[in-house]
Amino acid sequence: MPVYEYECGKCEKVTETLRKSSDADAPIVCEHCGSDKTRRMHSVFTAAAAAPKRGHCAPQSSGGPCGGCCNPHGSCST
Ligand SMILES: [Zn+2]
Repeated sequence: MPVYEYECGKCEKVTETLRKSSDADAPIVCEHCGSDKTRRMHSVFTAAAAAPKRGHCAPQSSGGPCGGCCNPHGSCST
């Protein structure tokens, strides 16, 4: 499930929440001041952000963009 960030129009603080993408445009209440004047910021997909690092260090891609940093466990050490 993606994480969405909502910036408060009143206190300008950010509230992060994990919710279904179908609910992303529904307004939420600011967790800092209780205002409902929030607007959605860019969404952060944690799974998508983690994938490229795992992918380029997969054993079958040795010699790829990661050079010699890939260890046998498939994780990047740099
Ligand atoms: Zn607020």
